[in-house]
Amino acid sequence: MTSFIDFPDIPDGPVVLRNATVPACLIDNLPATATVDADGLASLEFWIENGRIAAISAAGSGGETGPGVDLRNSMVWPCFADVHTHIDKGHIWPRQRNPDGTRPGALKSAEQDRNANWNAEDVHARMNFSLACAYAHGTAAIRTHIDSTPPQHKISWPVVSDIRDEWAGRIALQTVCLEPIWGYADTGFGTEIADMMVEYGGILGAVLNIQDDTDDLLDFVIGLAIDRGLDLDFHVDEMGDPAARSFDSIAEALIRNDFGKPVNVGHCCSLAIRPPDEVAHALDLAAEADLRVVSLPMCNMYLQDRPQPGAPARTPRWRGVTILHELKARGIPVAIASDNTRDPLYAYGDLDGLEVFTQAVRTAHLDYPIGDWPEAITRTPADTMGLADIGRLKSGGPADMVIFRARSYSELLCRPQHDRAVLRAGRAIDTMPPDYRELDTVVG
Ligand SMILES: [Zn+2]
Repeated sequence: MTSFIDFPDIPDGPVVLRNATVPACLIDNLPATATVDADGLASLEFWIENGRIAAISAAGSGGETGPGVDLRNSMVWPCFADVHTHIDKGHIWPRQRNPDGTRPGALKSAEQDRNANWNAEDVHARMNFSLACAYAHGTAAIRTHIDSTPPQHKISWPVVSDIRDEWAGRIALQTVCLEPIWGYADTGFGTEIADMMVEYGGILGAVLNIQDDTDDLLDFVIGLAIDRGLDLDFHVDEMGDPAARSFDSIAEALIRNDFGKPVNVGHCCSLAIRPPDEVAHALDLAAEADLRVVSLPMCNMYLQDRPQPGAPARTPRWRGVTILHELKARGIPVAIASDNTRDPLYAYGDLDGLEVFTQAVRTAHLDYPIGDWPEAITRTPADTMGLADIGRLKSGGPADMVIFRARSYSELLCRPQHDRAVLRAGRAIDTMPPDYRELDTVVG
């Protein structure tokens, strides 16, 4: 896609990107002379050399001469980190829709498609397509969950290994095994999948919604992780039921087992509709357990508060998202992410970090001020993934940047910004997403 600015072939030698407008929260060691406006935006110039940011200085502090590009106050962000996706499910929509938009309909449809179609070639083609979308939009790191219910685990994980190698240097890919918590009642399977996570460099995961009596299963899963030095990542309370308490159960289990490392938990929708005193206690537990929360606003808006399958159409009454502001105020790191794309759990989406941010701002009121919320799709998820060079702009860091025509949040959030430029290691990449026709032979 043609970007709004025609980047010359940036030479390896020093070059300056002048007059950039940057969310100050995304800069490490903001220059003391930089001015930051009421919206938290700084005017800066970036000195690029050998694919890295050699220095960051206040706009107008000396980069006017010599080779460079005048960005005319365009916004510059670091590349995105998308910490909760399902690229093994992505893009099956043309052959397997969600019949009614409900979560039960989604789970049943996805399972049917998995059983019928998910051979290695199919999974590879769709994962590759998803990563190409994300890359074109300016994403540098992705964590995806991988359906691992037998026999799918033996099919998908070797593909994961290949595709991670194929995308190395463009997208840092992390992978989590996805399995309902009751799947671990089969301790043989639990041990097998945990050993596979060691073999394939994966993260141990489980889905917990409203199931009772999960303490023993959680202790087993956490024990598997401790014994093997694995990280953990859970799907939690993706529902609108005030009785859902898996969030608390997970925090208590991590404390009980002295896990000692941060743990990422996704969704946590029910926190938004539980009694306030319960929520306060849950947040205390989460802080003690070192939980990090990722909210999936687009998917939550789609699946939550749907009528039961077969019931008449009904307008949703709540937004489905968790309590992002309250979690953040309690000191719990909060990220936002894509979740599903063009599959029965979310019919839309394209792994565009800016779309996630824009939709989250609108859905969860991440405004007045927007402040440091840009960290939720950049620095915070990159920290969750342990990637210290991604999701921020810093001297010595890679020149991996997304450059928007927009000069302000108003201009940024009102348009899709598909004419953005993306620099990777200081060079402009092709920002045209792949053509859906490439999947015609795969998903029809
Ligand atoms: Zn998910």
